[in-house]
Amino acid sequence: MDCVCPAGVEGGGMDFLRRLFGGGARRPADDALHLYVRCSHCGAPVHVRINLRNDLLAEYGDDLVEGYRLSKEIMDDRCFRLMRAELVFDCNRRELERTITGGEFITREESEQLTRQEPNTRPD
Ligand SMILES: [Zn+2]
Repeated sequence: MDCVCPAGVEGGGMDFLRRLFGGGARRPADDALHLYVRCSHCGAPVHVRINLRNDLLAEYGDDLVEGYRLSKEIMDDRCFRLMRAELVFDCNRRELERTITGGEFITREESEQLTRQEPNTRPD
């Protein structure tokens, strides 16, 4: 029998997805993670929105997801240097650690302050 409907593909796949997304672990209320970074070269702030459901790369143990990892290349719009953020998450997509090269992590407040100081930011 050659059923080609998506639900009919090779058993196991759906099972796996169900385990990945169902799993009993409650999802965070907000699927977005906001990163605020500042370019170490020119000091420009950059805001990056990470979709915790789509942007993370799963890391597998024997057959289960042990955690997630995210590599994000970030570029500010002033000097256009590339920054690279690496984040590590546990299997519930909770952040465990973050590192960045070419810039530094700042808080949202710091980012907003820096944005306000931008000479070419139009106040709305
Ligand atoms: Zn820069």
